[in-house]
Amino acid sequence: MASADVQMSGAETETFAFQAEINQLLSLIINTFYSNKEIFLRELISNASDALDKIRFESLTDKSKLDAQPELFIRLVPDKASKTLSIIDSGVGMTKSDLVNNLGTIARSGTKEFMEALQDGADVSMIGQFGVGFYSAYLVAEKVVVTTKHNDDEQYVWESQAGGSFTVSLDTTGERLGRGTKITLFLKDDQLEYLEERRLKDLVKKHSEFISYPIYLWTEKTTEKEISDDEDEDEAGKEKKEGDVEEVDEDEEKDKDKKRKKKVKEVTHEWVQINKQKPIWLRKPEEITREEYASFYKSLTNDWEDHLAVKHFSVEGQLEFKAILFVPRRAPFDLFDTRKKLNNIKLYVRRVFIMDNCEELIPEWLGFVKGVVDSDDLPLNISREMLQQNKILKVIRKNLVKKCIEMFFEIAENKEDYAKFYDAFSKNIKLGIHEDSQNRAKLADLLRYHSTKSGDEMTSLKDYVTRMKEGQKQIYYITGESKKAVENSPFLEKLKKKGYEVLFMVDAIDEYAVGQLKEYDGKKLVSATKEGLTLDEESEEEKKRREERKKAFEDLCKVIKDILGDRVEKVVVSDRIVDSPCCLVTGEYGWTANMERIMKAQALRDSSMSAYMSSKKTMEINPDNGIMEELRKRAEADRNDKSVKDLVLLLFETALLTSGFSLDDPNTFAARIHRMLKLGLNIDEDVADEDAGMPALEEGAAEESKMEEVD
Ligand code: ADP
Repeated sequence: MASADVQMSGAETETFAFQAEINQLLSLIINTFYSNKEIFLRELISNASDALDKIRFESLTDKSKLDAQPELFIRLVPDKASKTLSIIDSGVGMTKSDLVNNLGTIARSGTKEFMEALQDGADVSMIGQFGVGFYSAYLVAEKVVVTTKHNDDEQYVWESQAGGSFTVSLDTTGERLGRGTKITLFLKDDQLEYLEERRLKDLVKKHSEFISYPIYLWTEKTTEKEISDDEDEDEAGKEKKEGDVEEVDEDEEKDKDKKRKKKVKEVTHEWVQINKQKPIWLRKPEEITREEYASFYKSLTNDWEDHLAVKHFSVEGQLEFKAILFVPRRAPFDLFDTRKKLNNIKLYVRRVFIMDNCEELIPEWLGFVKGVVDSDDLPLNISREMLQQNKILKVIRKNLVKKCIEMFFEIAENKEDYAKFYDAFSKNIKLGIHEDSQNRAKLADLLRYHSTKSGDEMTSLKDYVTRMKEGQKQIYYITGESKKAVENSPFLEKLKKKGYEVLFMVDAIDEYAVGQLKEYDGKKLVSATKEGLTLDEESEEEKKRREERKKAFEDLCKVIKDILGDRVEKVVVSDRIVDSPCCLVTGEYGWTANMERIMKAQALRDSSMSAYMSSKKTMEINPDNGIMEELRKRAEADRNDKSVKDLVLLLFETALLTSGFSLDDPNTFAARIHRMLKLGLNIDEDVADEDAGMPALEEGAAEESKMEEVD
């Protein structure tokens, strides 16, 4: 108290100077513009709750500590006449020296830090985390009066309009508190909204609903009442007292009817509890009904629908916390919007709400999970900076992830629910597979895909494995834009013929997820569109036949490569197509056609990646296809046959499309097709060219073409 400038003014009123830093803080709070003033109420209620915690704790060993006021409560009293809002608690209260020390003369370490944080752009709502929450009262009040009674002292009044000093005096005349503290805020004229019941209710709901003491609001009710003239004098204007019971005598009522009636306004007051007292997460899960979880979920999230799943658990031992996690029924419209808050888990420390967007609490892929975590171990005045390195938080996070995954598996036990869940959040699961190497294998069991054998249903990888053919060692999949686009892809021809099931991965994120997953249950995941697709051992006879074919088409491969030039990396005889003449496969480690499409669609992407990642295409030709056989004959007869060149280009462009790529130059492709149509229709090339204005074809296209022979 050395720094206190103590003066005696009047008999019992002492004036003290605020400690320098606190004084600075007060000017900052009063003079700087903050729009988020409403947080003052949370801070004062939180202080009240702390004071109640303290007396509750003391009373555990000494029951008599509660004698002066047995009930533990927080009360809010808005008074429009005096423009004051009072926050009353029956907590531990403050002695005179507490008042002097805690509210003004002893600076807390957080004072300076908070001011610095504010200067660095921190939000004023973080004030509580720096241990100076009380002063947030000055966001809305021009004068604050604190009346308090501690068991060990008399009732004292603290008062200040900031401005450098506060006073403390013995309170001999004011309302008796018994025990506890009453903080009266004389609201600034532009802050009178905090006298509105609605506003206060909403604020308590928003910031303090789960305070574990009842919060009562002194509410006013105005009713119109008909009274007869002669009752007028004693009834009208008389304010009803709390607990008044109205007795109605029917006979008397009838008598009154005959008399002249008059309408008067009657104002009544009552205490209305505006929080749900016991935080639901502190209760035993087996005692909570589904309805109770639902109503808690709704109050937590403002969702209008019930939750899809809930997981309520507590972790005990070295580290203790309780948590309730919910999965909503729908994905929010902004699920992956990077501007919105990162997660939906509210962090409480010993039932006091700390923050609701703590990045360290849960990974991004679980951003859709909603709930609360209440830790017994974290310090109440924890700051975001501290949270980043906090070990306790890391352990909590690990546990939350584990419990979320458990919850998802529980959902999977019900097919209908799981379909809903998967529809809404499969992207998150896939993101999890991409990012969470520790849980990747487990998460893979949550995946569901349509496949060549699944029909309308989706299959899990586990079920796929049970259906694998004897000798099948790999899991086959194809990626693409949609089920429709992949289900008849030429890449699947051989696989289908052999009876191997192929999974359809048609979500953009599948490309990323499968890229990380690589295998399931010891079986490699193999893309049907990439190089290196090996189907299992073939019979000697098959092998021999394949080798012969390969030899027979070796020359044609060279011819085609010469014609296509840089468009393809190489041309080989295919092992995967049965009906189509050819297809374009991509390198095992480069992008698939689908990935190339996805990357092209990302408007703001850095294009430097595409140079080395974009698909190196290999053309695979089908020796059993009639077109290829014809081409082979023609090329054998004349390597420079123009029709071969034209056909190869057309085949290449068509293969681009059937293999999931896009055409860089659709006009040339169209011109080629048109020319074929004309040949088919016997239209004279020269005449047609004039009016069609077709783009030039590859050198020397026209006359010699004998495409009709191919048809
Ligand atoms: P914090 O609560 O984080 O310690 P505050 O600035 O909010 O910081 O409060 C300062 C101190 O004043 C508290 O630590 C407490 O000792 C005392 N105090 C504030 N409000 C109350 C209250 N309602 N009842 C009892 N003590 C209080």
